[in-house]
Amino acid sequence: GIVQVGLGDRSYPILVEHGRLRRLPAELAQRYPASSYCLVADDTVAARYGRELLDGLRGCDLAAELLTFPAGEQSKTIETVGWLASAAARLGLDRRSMFIALGGGVTGDLAGFLASAYLRGVPFIQIPTSLLAQVDSSVGGKTGVDLPEGKNLFGSFYQPQAVFIDPQVLATLPQQHYCNGLAEVIKYGVIREPSFLAFLERDRERVLARDEPAVEQVITTCCRIKAEVVAADEREGGLRRILNFGHTIGHAVEAASRFELLHGFAVAIGMVAAARISVRRSLLGANKAERLQQLLDRYGLPTEIPPHLDRGTIKSYLLSDKKRVGSSLFFVLPLDDGTVAITDQVTTDDIDAVLAG
Ligand code: NAD
Ligand code: ZN
Repeated sequence: GIVQVGLGDRSYPILVEHGRLRRLPAELAQRYPASSYCLVADDTVAARYGRELLDGLRGCDLAAELLTFPAGEQSKTIETVGWLASAAARLGLDRRSMFIALGGGVTGDLAGFLASAYLRGVPFIQIPTSLLAQVDSSVGGKTGVDLPEGKNLFGSFYQPQAVFIDPQVLATLPQQHYCNGLAEVIKYGVIREPSFLAFLERDRERVLARDEPAVEQVITTCCRIKAEVVAADEREGGLRRILNFGHTIGHAVEAASRFELLHGFAVAIGMVAAARISVRRSLLGANKAERLQQLLDRYGLPTEIPPHLDRGTIKSYLLSDKKRVGSSLFFVLPLDDGTVAITDQVTTDDIDAVLAG
């Protein structure tokens, strides 16, 4: 399927299609001409898909290079961006070059940021390969790196020219990373589309088995929802904040685990916590909170804060988040009618209650 991200003269298509990767070199040559294509991939993805794509591009008589870095969040730093920029300069990449981010969210955030600043900005294309990147991070134009002081503190908004999604590459994605992405998938259902949530309940076995049509439907639906939200609010002044459902407590739990808990797993816990706050405030029926918990559980995601994580530490992370946002803590709360509300009215009593479990 094709989804269009409507952002005026910065609009771009998201193309979801099995086997897309193999057909890409010819398509790039025809529709996205460049003096040179610079692939950026972590070493894992480079070995699995990067070299083949490089060969494919060169086989079409296109100038192409591949820059790699060690896989993992530890690489998402200013140092890596600086190193990649120097490597690009040494290769002589000019203003008509195109960067191609091939990989998970780490690669997309790094390569997008690199493209936004290299020679004051050159075009780039996203080819997300993890489920999280295919349903979330490759769409919307947030790019950047981590600082020692915190995650995602340094970056820019920079939209790609196009997003090419080949669900076939998910076949090699480790199971825990597949589940990691599924948490964000379920999030889209809760914040925006009850019928999609019903699909995820009904077709769980097919989704978990990575059945091709089911996965394609999941990706296309999530991209459509994210595109709608981003088109309405590119810079997160209003509507885009609904994408943070589950992330307030999720981030605090993730940090308290010292990032041992993958982001999506922490968000799953955070979504249940937010639903329980809704129930406490009579915004959501208890049966609906239970239904969400059951769905996450059936997808192999956690729904309770691990007992070994210190509640005090989680709370102090929540409060430091509060300082960053302003004076109050923002929560996205699910409502009975299948929509969500953004509120700063959640009290410490509410928080203490859900942390106590
Ligand atoms: P990641 O990029 O580290 O990928 C996870 C792991 O999967 C890596 O080891 C990678 O090598 C491997 N991998 C990726 N695709 C594979 C494939 N097809 N086969 C085998 N292995 C594969 O992490 P992620 O979970 O994809 O992304 C997390 C990052 O995304 C975080 O840094 C987060 O801040 C960022 N993010 C950004 C946005 C945004 O809007 N820009 C949104 C959400 C998350
Ligand atoms: Zn997230």
